[in-house]
Amino acid sequence: MSLIVMKFGGSSVGDAERMKRVANRVVETQRNGHQCVVVVSAMGDTTDDLIDLTKQISDGTPPAREMDMLLTTGEQVSVALLSMAIHSLGQSAVSFTGWQAGMYTEAVHGKARITDIKPERVLHAVKQGNVVIVAGFQGMTQEGEITTLGRGGSDTTAVALAAAIQADVCEIYTDVDGIYSTDPRVVKCARKLPEITYDEMLELANLGAAVLHPRAVEYAKNYNVPLVVRSSFNHNAGTNVKEEAAMEQGIVVRGIASDKNVARISILGVEEKPGQLAKVFTALANAQIDVDIIVQSGVLNGLADFSFTVSLNDKEKAVDVIESIRSEVGFREVSSQQNLVKVSIVGAGMVSTPGVAAKMFETISDLGLSINMVSTSEIKTSCVIENNRLNEVIQALHTAYGLDTDQQAFVGGPSERR
Ligand code: ASP
Ligand code: MG
Repeated sequence: MSLIVMKFGGSSVGDAERMKRVANRVVETQRNGHQCVVVVSAMGDTTDDLIDLTKQISDGTPPAREMDMLLTTGEQVSVALLSMAIHSLGQSAVSFTGWQAGMYTEAVHGKARITDIKPERVLHAVKQGNVVIVAGFQGMTQEGEITTLGRGGSDTTAVALAAAIQADVCEIYTDVDGIYSTDPRVVKCARKLPEITYDEMLELANLGAAVLHPRAVEYAKNYNVPLVVRSSFNHNAGTNVKEEAAMEQGIVVRGIASDKNVARISILGVEEKPGQLAKVFTALANAQIDVDIIVQSGVLNGLADFSFTVSLNDKEKAVDVIESIRSEVGFREVSSQQNLVKVSIVGAGMVSTPGVAAKMFETISDLGLSINMVSTSEIKTSCVIENNRLNEVIQALHTAYGLDTDQQAFVGGPSERR
Protein backbone atom coordinates (compact mmCIF):
# COMPACT_ATOMS: atom_id res chain seq x y z
CA MET A 1 0.00 0.00 0.00
CA SER A 2 1.36 3.40 -0.82
CA LEU A 3 0.46 6.92 0.13
CA ILE A 4 -0.17 8.95 -3.02
CA VAL A 5 -0.75 12.65 -3.54
CA MET A 6 -2.84 13.17 -6.69
CA LYS A 7 -3.17 16.71 -8.04
CA PHE A 8 -5.81 17.69 -10.60
CA GLY A 9 -5.62 21.00 -12.44
CA GLY A 10 -8.44 23.31 -13.43
CA SER A 11 -9.20 21.72 -16.81
CA SER A 12 -9.38 18.23 -15.25
CA VAL A 13 -12.19 19.41 -12.97
CA GLY A 14 -13.65 21.92 -15.46
CA ASP A 15 -17.29 20.78 -15.17
CA ALA A 16 -19.48 18.31 -13.26
CA GLU A 17 -18.77 15.48 -15.72
CA ARG A 18 -15.04 15.91 -15.40
CA MET A 19 -15.31 16.22 -11.65
CA LYS A 20 -17.08 12.85 -11.60
CA ARG A 21 -14.40 11.34 -13.78
CA VAL A 22 -11.74 12.53 -11.34
CA ALA A 23 -13.79 11.07 -8.47
CA ASN A 24 -13.84 7.72 -10.28
CA ARG A 25 -10.14 7.80 -10.82
CA VAL A 26 -9.43 8.59 -7.18
CA VAL A 27 -11.80 5.91 -5.89
CA GLU A 28 -10.28 3.38 -8.28
CA THR A 29 -6.81 4.20 -6.90
CA GLN A 30 -8.01 4.00 -3.30
CA ARG A 31 -9.73 0.66 -3.98
CA ASN A 32 -6.53 -0.67 -5.49
CA GLY A 33 -5.20 -0.46 -1.96
CA HIS A 34 -3.58 2.97 -1.88
CA GLN A 35 -4.18 5.90 0.42
CA CYS A 36 -5.03 9.02 -1.55
CA VAL A 37 -4.57 12.67 -0.71
CA VAL A 38 -5.98 14.77 -3.51
CA VAL A 39 -5.11 18.40 -4.29
CA VAL A 40 -7.37 20.31 -6.68
CA SER A 41 -7.37 23.63 -8.47
CA ALA A 42 -10.37 25.85 -9.11
CA MET A 43 -12.73 24.58 -11.83
CA GLY A 44 -11.81 25.59 -15.39
CA ASP A 45 -11.34 29.33 -15.76
CA THR A 46 -12.77 30.18 -12.34
CA THR A 47 -9.68 32.05 -11.15
CA ASP A 48 -9.55 34.17 -14.31
CA ASP A 49 -13.29 34.85 -14.06
CA LEU A 50 -12.93 35.99 -10.46
CA ILE A 51 -10.12 38.33 -11.45
CA ASP A 52 -12.32 39.74 -14.22
CA LEU A 53 -15.06 40.37 -11.67
CA THR A 54 -12.73 42.46 -9.53
CA LYS A 55 -12.06 44.68 -12.53
CA GLN A 56 -15.76 45.51 -12.69
CA ILE A 57 -15.90 46.31 -8.99
CA SER A 58 -12.76 48.25 -8.27
CA ASP A 59 -11.05 50.76 -10.50
CA GLY A 60 -7.61 50.74 -8.94
CA THR A 61 -5.73 47.73 -7.69
CA PRO A 62 -7.97 45.95 -5.17
CA PRO A 63 -6.51 45.35 -1.70
CA ALA A 64 -4.24 42.30 -1.94
CA ARG A 65 -5.79 40.78 1.17
CA GLU A 66 -9.28 40.88 -0.31
CA MET A 67 -7.96 39.50 -3.59
CA ASP A 68 -6.75 36.43 -1.71
CA MET A 69 -10.05 36.14 0.15
CA LEU A 70 -11.79 36.06 -3.21
CA LEU A 71 -9.46 33.82 -5.22
CA THR A 72 -9.27 31.11 -2.58
CA THR A 73 -13.03 30.53 -2.97
CA GLY A 74 -12.39 28.91 -6.37
CA GLU A 75 -10.50 26.01 -4.84
CA GLN A 76 -13.02 25.70 -1.99
CA VAL A 77 -15.77 25.05 -4.51
CA SER A 78 -13.68 22.31 -6.11
CA VAL A 79 -12.79 20.42 -2.92
CA ALA A 80 -16.36 20.34 -1.64
CA LEU A 81 -17.80 19.16 -4.96
CA LEU A 82 -15.12 16.52 -5.44
CA SER A 83 -15.74 15.22 -1.94
CA MET A 84 -19.47 14.94 -2.69
CA ALA A 85 -18.75 13.12 -5.95
CA ILE A 86 -16.53 10.65 -4.12
CA HIS A 87 -19.20 10.12 -1.44
CA SER A 88 -21.73 9.23 -4.10
CA LEU A 89 -19.41 6.45 -5.21
CA GLY A 90 -19.64 4.98 -1.71
CA GLN A 91 -16.19 6.05 -0.57
CA SER A 92 -15.69 8.23 2.50
CA ALA A 93 -13.91 11.49 1.79
CA VAL A 94 -13.24 14.72 3.61
CA SER A 95 -12.27 18.09 2.14
CA PHE A 96 -10.01 20.68 3.75
CA THR A 97 -9.11 24.24 2.93
CA GLY A 98 -5.39 25.05 2.86
CA TRP A 99 -5.51 26.38 6.43
CA GLN A 100 -7.40 23.36 7.73
CA ALA A 101 -4.71 21.22 6.12
CA GLY A 102 -2.00 23.13 8.00
CA MET A 103 -0.41 24.97 5.07
CA TYR A 104 1.39 27.94 6.62
CA THR A 105 2.88 30.67 4.46
CA GLU A 106 4.84 33.88 4.81
CA ALA A 107 2.77 37.02 5.32
CA VAL A 108 2.63 38.08 1.67
CA HIS A 109 -0.54 38.30 -0.37
CA GLY A 110 -0.71 37.05 -3.94
CA LYS A 111 2.54 35.10 -4.10
CA ALA A 112 3.31 33.71 -0.65
CA ARG A 113 5.85 30.99 -0.07
CA ILE A 114 5.04 28.02 2.11
CA THR A 115 6.94 28.26 5.38
CA ASP A 116 5.65 25.28 7.34
CA ILE A 117 3.16 22.45 7.05
CA LYS A 118 1.36 20.87 9.97
CA PRO A 119 -0.26 17.88 8.31
CA GLU A 120 -1.60 16.09 11.43
CA ARG A 121 -5.23 16.62 10.54
CA VAL A 122 -4.70 15.35 6.99
CA LEU A 123 -2.83 12.28 8.23
CA HIS A 124 -5.46 11.54 10.87
CA ALA A 125 -8.24 11.62 8.28
CA VAL A 126 -6.20 9.38 5.96
CA LYS A 127 -5.69 6.83 8.75
CA GLN A 128 -9.42 6.70 9.27
CA GLY A 129 -9.79 5.49 5.69
CA ASN A 130 -10.87 8.73 4.04
CA VAL A 131 -9.79 10.12 0.75
CA VAL A 132 -8.53 13.54 1.82
CA ILE A 133 -9.05 16.46 -0.53
CA VAL A 134 -7.04 19.62 -0.02
CA ALA A 135 -7.61 22.97 -1.71
CA GLY A 136 -4.57 23.93 -3.77
CA PHE A 137 -3.02 27.38 -4.13
CA GLN A 138 -3.88 28.59 -0.62
CA GLY A 139 -2.46 28.89 2.85
CA MET A 140 -2.55 30.91 6.02
CA THR A 141 -0.06 33.16 7.81
CA GLN A 142 0.91 32.64 11.46
CA GLU A 143 -1.52 35.50 12.22
CA GLY A 144 -4.40 33.66 10.58
CA GLU A 145 -4.59 35.67 7.35
CA ILE A 146 -5.50 33.82 4.16
CA THR A 147 -2.89 33.85 1.38
CA THR A 148 -2.39 32.46 -2.13
CA LEU A 149 0.76 30.96 -3.62
CA GLY A 150 0.78 32.68 -7.03
CA ARG A 151 -0.88 31.61 -10.28
CA GLY A 152 -0.48 27.90 -10.93
CA GLY A 153 0.32 27.38 -7.25
CA SER A 154 -1.72 24.21 -6.75
CA ASP A 155 1.23 22.21 -8.06
CA THR A 156 3.29 23.61 -5.22
CA THR A 157 0.62 22.72 -2.66
CA ALA A 158 0.66 19.14 -3.92
CA VAL A 159 4.43 18.71 -3.89
CA ALA A 160 4.89 20.43 -0.53
CA LEU A 161 2.15 18.34 1.03
CA ALA A 162 3.66 15.17 -0.47
CA ALA A 163 6.98 16.08 1.16
CA ALA A 164 5.33 16.83 4.52
CA ILE A 165 3.37 13.58 4.72
CA GLN A 166 6.23 11.59 3.15
CA ALA A 167 4.07 10.35 0.33
CA ASP A 168 5.55 7.68 -1.91
CA VAL A 169 4.79 9.70 -5.01
CA CYS A 170 3.15 12.94 -6.11
CA GLU A 171 1.13 12.51 -9.29
CA ILE A 172 0.29 15.64 -11.26
CA TYR A 173 -2.73 14.95 -13.49
CA THR A 174 -3.14 17.31 -16.39
CA ASP A 175 -4.49 17.63 -19.93
CA VAL A 176 -1.44 16.20 -21.71
CA ASP A 177 0.14 12.76 -21.39
CA GLY A 178 3.29 13.95 -19.69
CA ILE A 179 6.25 16.20 -20.37
CA TYR A 180 7.07 16.46 -24.05
CA SER A 181 10.31 17.31 -25.81
CA THR A 182 8.53 20.48 -26.91
CA ASP A 183 4.96 21.79 -27.03
CA PRO A 184 3.01 19.05 -28.89
CA ARG A 185 0.65 21.72 -30.15
CA VAL A 186 3.54 23.20 -32.13
CA VAL A 187 5.45 20.08 -33.13
CA LYS A 188 3.15 17.18 -34.01
CA CYS A 189 5.93 14.62 -33.66
CA ALA A 190 7.08 15.85 -30.23
CA ARG A 191 8.20 12.95 -28.09
CA LYS A 192 6.82 12.13 -24.69
CA LEU A 193 9.67 11.83 -22.22
CA PRO A 194 9.61 8.73 -20.01
CA GLU A 195 11.77 10.61 -17.51
CA ILE A 196 13.44 13.94 -16.92
CA THR A 197 15.70 15.31 -14.16
CA TYR A 198 14.55 17.91 -11.65
CA ASP A 199 17.15 20.34 -13.04
CA GLU A 200 16.03 19.94 -16.63
CA MET A 201 12.40 20.25 -15.60
CA LEU A 202 13.21 23.37 -13.61
CA GLU A 203 14.82 24.97 -16.67
CA LEU A 204 11.86 24.06 -18.86
CA ALA A 205 9.34 25.26 -16.27
CA ASN A 206 11.20 28.56 -15.86
CA LEU A 207 11.30 28.91 -19.62
CA GLY A 208 7.53 28.79 -19.69
CA ALA A 209 6.65 25.11 -20.12
CA ALA A 210 3.43 25.58 -18.17
CA VAL A 211 2.84 21.92 -17.36
CA LEU A 212 4.53 22.33 -13.97
CA HIS A 213 4.96 25.38 -11.79
CA PRO A 214 8.68 26.18 -11.29
CA ARG A 215 8.32 26.50 -7.54
CA ALA A 216 6.79 23.03 -7.36
CA VAL A 217 9.77 21.57 -9.20
CA GLU A 218 12.16 23.41 -6.87
CA TYR A 219 10.31 21.94 -3.90
CA ALA A 220 10.38 18.45 -5.39
CA LYS A 221 14.12 18.73 -5.94
CA ASN A 222 14.87 20.06 -2.47
CA TYR A 223 12.81 17.39 -0.72
CA ASN A 224 13.46 14.65 -3.27
CA VAL A 225 9.77 14.05 -3.94
CA PRO A 226 9.25 11.63 -6.85
CA LEU A 227 6.91 13.34 -9.33
CA VAL A 228 4.85 11.84 -12.11
CA VAL A 229 3.12 14.02 -14.69
CA ARG A 230 0.29 12.19 -16.46
CA SER A 231 -3.05 12.66 -18.15
CA SER A 232 -6.35 12.71 -16.32
CA PHE A 233 -8.02 11.70 -19.60
CA ASN A 234 -6.38 8.28 -20.02
CA HIS A 235 -4.25 5.72 -18.18
CA ASN A 236 -1.06 6.09 -20.21
CA ALA A 237 2.20 6.10 -18.29
CA GLY A 238 3.32 9.66 -17.72
CA THR A 239 6.71 11.29 -17.23
CA ASN A 240 8.79 10.65 -14.11
CA VAL A 241 10.60 13.68 -12.77
CA LYS A 242 13.56 12.68 -10.59
CA GLU A 243 17.16 13.35 -9.61
CA GLU A 244 18.75 11.36 -12.44
CA ALA A 245 17.19 10.28 -15.69
CA ALA A 246 18.40 8.03 -18.48
CA MET A 247 18.99 9.47 -21.94
CA GLU A 248 18.19 7.54 -25.07
CA GLN A 249 21.27 6.56 -27.07
CA GLY A 250 22.52 9.39 -29.24
CA ILE A 251 20.24 12.08 -27.78
CA VAL A 252 21.72 14.96 -25.78
CA VAL A 253 18.92 17.50 -25.79
CA ARG A 254 15.90 16.64 -23.65
CA GLY A 255 13.62 19.48 -24.57
CA ILE A 256 13.12 22.71 -26.46
CA ALA A 257 11.25 25.67 -25.01
CA SER A 258 10.45 29.17 -26.13
CA ASP A 259 9.49 32.37 -24.40
CA LYS A 260 7.85 35.28 -26.20
CA ASN A 261 7.83 37.44 -23.15
CA VAL A 262 11.13 39.09 -24.05
CA ALA A 263 12.22 42.67 -24.69
CA ARG A 264 15.74 43.83 -25.37
CA ILE A 265 17.11 47.06 -23.94
CA SER A 266 20.27 48.49 -25.48
CA ILE A 267 22.43 51.22 -23.96
CA LEU A 268 24.77 52.62 -26.57
CA GLY A 269 27.91 54.70 -26.22
CA VAL A 270 28.49 54.11 -22.53
CA GLU A 271 31.63 55.82 -21.15
CA GLU A 272 34.05 53.05 -20.29
CA LYS A 273 35.09 53.20 -16.61
CA PRO A 274 34.92 50.81 -13.66
CA GLY A 275 31.55 50.31 -11.98
CA GLN A 276 29.30 51.14 -14.93
CA LEU A 277 27.59 47.74 -15.14
CA ALA A 278 27.10 47.76 -11.38
CA LYS A 279 25.32 51.13 -11.53
CA VAL A 280 22.97 50.01 -14.28
CA PHE A 281 22.03 46.67 -12.78
CA THR A 282 21.73 47.96 -9.23
CA ALA A 283 19.26 50.58 -10.45
CA LEU A 284 17.26 47.89 -12.26
CA ALA A 285 17.30 45.60 -9.24
CA ASN A 286 16.12 48.43 -6.98
CA ALA A 287 13.17 48.86 -9.34
CA GLN A 288 12.40 45.11 -8.99
CA ILE A 289 13.20 44.44 -12.63
CA ASP A 290 14.51 40.96 -13.40
CA VAL A 291 17.23 40.93 -16.00
CA ASP A 292 17.87 37.79 -17.99
CA ILE A 293 20.58 37.78 -20.69
CA ILE A 294 23.31 40.45 -20.51
CA VAL A 295 25.74 41.21 -23.31
CA GLN A 296 28.52 43.80 -23.34
CA SER A 297 30.19 44.54 -26.65
CA GLY A 298 33.83 45.54 -27.11
CA VAL A 299 35.06 49.04 -26.33
CA LEU A 300 35.65 51.50 -29.16
CA ASN A 301 37.09 54.99 -28.55
CA GLY A 302 36.39 54.61 -24.83
CA LEU A 303 32.70 53.85 -25.42
CA ALA A 304 30.93 50.50 -24.94
CA ASP A 305 27.47 49.12 -25.76
CA PHE A 306 25.37 47.00 -23.37
CA SER A 307 22.27 45.00 -24.13
CA PHE A 308 20.08 42.98 -21.81
CA THR A 309 16.68 41.34 -21.85
CA VAL A 310 13.76 41.87 -19.50
CA SER A 311 10.21 40.61 -19.61
CA LEU A 312 7.93 42.50 -21.96
CA ASN A 313 5.89 44.15 -19.21
CA ASP A 314 9.06 45.62 -17.69
CA LYS A 315 10.23 47.18 -20.96
CA GLU A 316 9.08 50.77 -20.43
CA LYS A 317 9.98 50.75 -16.77
CA ALA A 318 13.50 49.55 -17.63
CA VAL A 319 14.00 52.35 -20.16
CA ASP A 320 12.80 54.90 -17.58
CA VAL A 321 15.18 53.54 -14.97
CA ILE A 322 18.12 53.80 -17.39
CA GLU A 323 17.11 57.35 -18.36
CA SER A 324 16.99 58.28 -14.69
CA ILE A 325 20.68 57.41 -14.25
CA ARG A 326 21.82 59.02 -17.52
CA SER A 327 23.97 61.73 -15.92
CA GLU A 328 25.45 59.36 -13.37
CA VAL A 329 26.49 56.79 -16.01
CA GLY A 330 27.02 58.83 -19.15
CA PHE A 331 25.78 57.23 -22.38
CA ARG A 332 24.60 58.29 -25.80
CA GLU A 333 21.32 56.48 -26.22
CA VAL A 334 18.96 53.92 -24.72
CA SER A 335 16.56 51.98 -26.92
CA SER A 336 14.28 48.98 -26.67
CA GLN A 337 13.18 46.26 -29.04
CA GLN A 338 10.30 43.78 -28.87
CA ASN A 339 8.87 41.13 -31.23
CA LEU A 340 11.64 38.86 -30.02
CA VAL A 341 11.61 35.35 -28.70
CA LYS A 342 14.02 33.32 -26.65
CA VAL A 343 14.45 29.74 -27.85
CA SER A 344 16.25 27.34 -25.55
CA ILE A 345 17.52 23.81 -25.69
CA VAL A 346 17.83 21.92 -22.40
CA GLY A 347 19.64 18.68 -21.57
CA ALA A 348 21.75 17.48 -18.63
CA GLY A 349 24.20 15.77 -21.02
CA MET A 350 25.06 18.97 -22.88
CA VAL A 351 27.91 19.96 -20.64
CA SER A 352 29.97 16.91 -21.59
CA THR A 353 29.13 16.82 -25.30
CA PRO A 354 30.96 19.20 -27.65
CA GLY A 355 29.17 20.84 -30.54
CA VAL A 356 25.67 21.00 -29.07
CA ALA A 357 25.44 24.79 -29.11
CA ALA A 358 27.16 24.95 -32.49
CA LYS A 359 24.42 22.78 -33.96
CA MET A 360 21.80 25.18 -32.61
CA PHE A 361 23.47 28.20 -34.20
CA GLU A 362 23.90 26.36 -37.48
CA THR A 363 20.26 25.21 -37.56
CA ILE A 364 19.00 28.74 -36.96
CA SER A 365 21.33 30.27 -39.55
CA ASP A 366 20.37 27.60 -42.11
CA LEU A 367 16.87 29.08 -41.92
CA GLY A 368 18.37 32.43 -42.87
CA LEU A 369 17.77 33.93 -39.44
CA SER A 370 20.24 35.85 -37.33
CA ILE A 371 20.79 35.42 -33.63
CA ASN A 372 20.61 38.56 -31.51
CA MET A 373 21.84 37.28 -28.18
CA VAL A 374 23.05 34.02 -26.67
CA SER A 375 23.33 32.69 -23.15
CA THR A 376 24.50 29.34 -21.90
CA SER A 377 24.55 27.34 -18.69
CA GLU A 378 25.71 23.78 -18.03
CA ILE A 379 22.42 22.33 -19.18
CA LYS A 380 20.93 25.03 -21.39
CA THR A 381 21.65 27.20 -24.42
CA SER A 382 19.31 30.07 -25.28
CA CYS A 383 19.20 32.26 -28.37
CA VAL A 384 17.19 35.45 -28.76
CA ILE A 385 15.86 35.79 -32.29
CA GLU A 386 13.12 37.71 -34.08
CA ASN A 387 9.73 36.23 -33.47
CA ASN A 388 8.43 35.86 -37.04
CA ARG A 389 9.24 32.21 -37.70
CA LEU A 390 9.30 30.69 -34.24
CA ASN A 391 7.42 27.47 -34.99
CA GLU A 392 9.68 26.75 -37.92
CA VAL A 393 12.74 27.24 -35.72
CA ILE A 394 11.42 24.92 -33.03
CA GLN A 395 10.58 22.25 -35.59
CA ALA A 396 14.03 22.52 -37.20
CA LEU A 397 15.80 22.24 -33.85
CA HIS A 398 13.60 19.31 -32.86
CA THR A 399 14.65 17.47 -36.01
CA ALA A 400 18.31 18.50 -35.74
CA TYR A 401 18.63 17.01 -32.25
CA GLY A 402 16.98 13.75 -33.28
CA LEU A 403 13.86 14.28 -31.19
CA ASP A 404 11.15 13.69 -33.82
CA THR A 405 9.00 10.57 -33.44
CA ASP A 406 6.56 9.16 -35.93
CA GLN A 407 3.78 9.10 -33.37
CA GLN A 408 1.42 12.01 -32.99
CA ALA A 409 1.26 13.43 -29.49
CA PHE A 410 -1.90 13.01 -27.44
CA VAL A 411 -3.44 16.32 -26.48
CA GLY A 412 -6.75 16.10 -24.66
CA GLY A 413 -9.17 18.64 -23.28
CA PRO A 414 -8.96 22.41 -23.25
CA SER A 415 -5.61 23.88 -22.41
CA GLU A 416 -4.51 24.38 -18.84
CA ARG A 417 -1.73 26.62 -20.04
CA ARG A 418 -1.71 30.34 -19.79
N1 ASP B 1 -6.47 28.31 -9.54
C1 ASP B 1 -5.15 28.86 -9.49
C2 ASP B 1 -4.77 29.46 -10.82
O1 ASP B 1 -5.56 29.43 -11.74
C3 ASP B 1 -4.13 27.87 -9.02
C4 ASP B 1 -3.86 26.72 -9.94
O2 ASP B 1 -4.65 26.43 -10.84
O3 ASP B 1 -2.85 26.04 -9.74
O4 ASP B 1 -3.71 29.99 -10.95
MG1 MG C 1 -1.22 24.30 -13.62
